[in-house]
Amino acid sequence: MSSALVLAHTSLVAVDRWHSLVQAAYVIAGVLFILSLAGLSKQESARRGNLAGKAGMVIALVATVALALLESENAIAVTGSLILGALLIGAVIGTIAARRIEMTQMPEMIAILHSFVGIAAVLVGFNSYITEPKDDAVHLIEVFLGIFIGAITFTGSVIAYLKLSAKMKSKPLTIPGRNLWNLGAVAACAGLMVWFLASPNIWALLAMTVVSLVIGLHLVAAIGGGDMPVVVSMLNSYSGWAAAAAGFMLSNNLLIITGALVGASGAILSYIMCKAMNRRFISVILGGFGDAPAAAGEEVTGEHREISVDELAQSLAEAKSVIITPGYGMAVAKAQYPVAELASKLRARGVKVRFGVHPVAGRLPGHMNVLLAEAKVPYDIVEEMDEINDDFSETDVVLVIGANDTVNPAALEDPNSPIAGMPVLEVWNATQVVVFKRSMAVGYAGVQNPLFFKDNTQMLFGDAKTRVEELVHAVDSALVG
Ligand code: NDP
Repeated sequence: MSSALVLAHTSLVAVDRWHSLVQAAYVIAGVLFILSLAGLSKQESARRGNLAGKAGMVIALVATVALALLESENAIAVTGSLILGALLIGAVIGTIAARRIEMTQMPEMIAILHSFVGIAAVLVGFNSYITEPKDDAVHLIEVFLGIFIGAITFTGSVIAYLKLSAKMKSKPLTIPGRNLWNLGAVAACAGLMVWFLASPNIWALLAMTVVSLVIGLHLVAAIGGGDMPVVVSMLNSYSGWAAAAAGFMLSNNLLIITGALVGASGAILSYIMCKAMNRRFISVILGGFGDAPAAAGEEVTGEHREISVDELAQSLAEAKSVIITPGYGMAVAKAQYPVAELASKLRARGVKVRFGVHPVAGRLPGHMNVLLAEAKVPYDIVEEMDEINDDFSETDVVLVIGANDTVNPAALEDPNSPIAGMPVLEVWNATQVVVFKRSMAVGYAGVQNPLFFKDNTQMLFGDAKTRVEELVHAVDSALVG
């Protein structure tokens, strides 16, 4: 064998070894992602889960860059510099955005990140169509479906971002015959797929992309108020399937595994959120919930009563059991720290204190749990709605801190209410309820709240953080006195 042939053979063996190493790294990253999901399912192990996810992502990234360099048709230096340049630009934008974003803006940040996954799947699809041979039907189906899911995810996520950031009204867009329009659009895409498979032309692909973009836009625009939590998790699921589709087009196993994990876990989360909202998944998809104007429900009238910080401190000093139900307002005010301090002070005095968390409180699944964990509230006093709902009748004082829709009795008492049927924290069964908020304004779903006018409810107006801080001091003197 000539020395040139030996050299070529040796370098082929070396490349093969690198390929095997990359595949091994992918398996390790895939296992770490599964461990991450398992860890994230419980508060106690969430930190470990997060670490596993980060480690998996670093391994995945390094392995993918190595693979791109191995398979590069250009000089390694050219491909390497292009990847490095893209990584640097992305890292700078990501770091600036992450530092600027407040915790309360996380849902909109997540929505816009989902839109990136969607547009990436569309671009990968077109690239794959242009560069790969067009004689493999399976590949053509991958391209078509990848672009279809990616385009829906893209516009759907952009609309979700606009709604969650209040740049667009959360009210559902209800055009007449909207379900028929959706059905017609999906049927049109199916027809375009048949055409595309019969003669793989760019026009069928472009037409389907436009129709899918409109479907995504309309699908999320038609979903209103109370259903947005399901939409957030549903788009999470879509973004996973879009990534998996991109994985098929790029023949990248890790992308397929990761996409399927995100897609499946997002679908499970959507199901859990639907159950929490007492909604059928299909009704959420078809949209229009929260459509009825507030006047369609019973008109809420009455006089509200107010309570002073000192009076409330006295009530708490005399209470044996207290439940705190946090909501979006606690997140906005960043009141979780004084709330945690208040809870620990009351507990130190022998008061039984627990937190009742509604599954869609805040603007993100698990939003309140994250905030309470951040403020070091012990996990064992944080209970889910189902666990705590029967206990309100044996509770002396309930503190509703920045929650509104999640404690609205109209959901159970008024069948015409736009949120009728949604399970809520039944705080009004307690002896005394005190609501911390700044005004009599409505919550996210835009529905009036009869809780504020009940005989055993009092309002404590003002910024939740300021009021709770005052309360922490007042409780000290009330207990001493
Ligand atoms: P709501 O959005 O119903 O109400 C929050 C309340 O907080 C408002 O009424 C507001 O009243 C008050 N508030 C705002 N800022 C402050 C402040 N600085 N100090 C004191 N109070 C303040 O909150 P809930 O958590 O009860 O319900 C969540 C809603 O969000 C549900 O409708 C849910 O469907 C929706 N949603 C949930 C998502 C999720 O995944 N969890 C995702 C998307 C939507 P005021 O202005 O008078 O102070």
